[in-house]
Amino acid sequence: MNKYLQDLIKLSKYDSIISMFEPKIENEKSKLSTFVEVAESIKSQINDTYAQIDDVKSKRTKNNIHLAELKTKLEDIARKNSEITNEKELKALQLEEEIAKEQISFANEEIIRLDEIAAAKEEELKELQAKLAEEEDSIKEIKVSVDEAIEKINEERNKVSQERAELLETFDKKILTFYQKIRRWAKDTAVVPVRDQACYGCYMKINDKTYSEVIKSEEIINCPHCGRILYKEEETAEEA
Ligand SMILES: [Zn+2]
Repeated sequence: MNKYLQDLIKLSKYDSIISMFEPKIENEKSKLSTFVEVAESIKSQINDTYAQIDDVKSKRTKNNIHLAELKTKLEDIARKNSEITNEKELKALQLEEEIAKEQISFANEEIIRLDEIAAAKEEELKELQAKLAEEEDSIKEIKVSVDEAIEKINEERNKVSQERAELLETFDKKILTFYQKIRRWAKDTAVVPVRDQACYGCYMKINDKTYSEVIKSEEIINCPHCGRILYKEEETAEEA
């Protein structure tokens, strides 16, 4: 096989492998991001719950203040009771007392209801905090394995980059420029095999003459349809 063609096949394989490293790293990182997203959502639920508890507590405080006011009012009514001079005043005072007592019992019921809500929210908060702790433990664990995987990928990337750099040391400059021009649009399929007499870049059949030239592998042959560099794959033992 033409030496330049051999070099081109090697270079193209290195470039394809190198292109795969970044998606592999992204894939590893995404394993972590799902857990981070879940943790973030739990954190925001925790914040919401805190806000709800604060709200309930402030309503409880208002009810307590109201209750104190009502008690003062009852004391006033009791004092006025001794100053009553006629039936009309007595009835008015009794009505006022009745309303105040009703309001007291309503405020007390409201405080009980608010305390129940607060207790339920505190329970919810505990559950969320436990869930968050669990999630954060998972994140720590996964981060270790993700970091390891990324380190391995980077090691492999360095190795392939090193091999590629070594190949380029003896690479023909014109051939390299030619390859890079095709690679600009064909990306990782600048150099493709011919299978079933078809270009594996554009999948179009190539004519017999071009095909026989590809089989001979004496020269660098471009696909007549798309311009990619073609080569005949060596048959593996299995195929043969
Ligand atoms: Zn083609």
